[in-house]
Amino acid sequence: MSESRSGDRDPAVRGSAEVERPQGATAARPAARPALRDRLVPAPAQGFGVTFAQMFRTVTTEQYPFEPKVTKPRYHGRHVLNRHPDGLEKCVGCELCAWACPADAIYVEGGDNTEDARFSPGERYGAVYQINYLRCIFCGLCIEACPTRSLTMSNDFELADDNRRDLIYTKEQLMAPLLPGMEQPPHPMRLGDDEKDYYLREPEVRS
Ligand code: SF4
Ligand code: SF4
Repeated sequence: MSESRSGDRDPAVRGSAEVERPQGATAARPAARPALRDRLVPAPAQGFGVTFAQMFRTVTTEQYPFEPKVTKPRYHGRHVLNRHPDGLEKCVGCELCAWACPADAIYVEGGDNTEDARFSPGERYGAVYQINYLRCIFCGLCIEACPTRSLTMSNDFELADDNRRDLIYTKEQLMAPLLPGMEQPPHPMRLGDDEKDYYLREPEVRS
């Protein structure tokens, strides 16, 4: 009996129904005939035909960066730290976003608000906030973890740079801009007497 291809494996594992393939069966198979097109049209003419047909297809080339690329509405781009309507920061420095991040890309240090220097409506605010875009994989787990909806993601994807330091974004770079009616913190609470007023109702901004 000739040795099978499975080498020295246990015959009990292989089973007794293994069929020995006849040697040389592949070599006896007749060679495939060339397609009719290959027999009638020379190869160079086929190549030029592909090129000619391509001239009538829709052009998909994008002229980026001369024509800005428009992303899908829910694209995960650069992060934004949002503000309340009076300009106070929504971030309370809880670090939940940093704990949720699988890439360890977020660094937060919380600070205590005082009546003389208030940055957010609650007791604490994000004194230091950094996102390392060399680590971030834009998964969005951090924005899911944020309890105040302070942290969201924009559609901005233009984050390339030529050095590592500039890809660690600071709080100042991530903060949302001041809109009309907003005031640069620190300043007192304008929308209520305590932080619940900021989350449980939407009062008008005091003058
Ligand atoms: S998007 Fe993902 S990887 Fe990037 S900072 Fe948030 S949790 Fe971390
Ligand atoms: S961004 Fe949100 S989750 Fe992160 S520290 Fe601020 S409040 Fe907490």
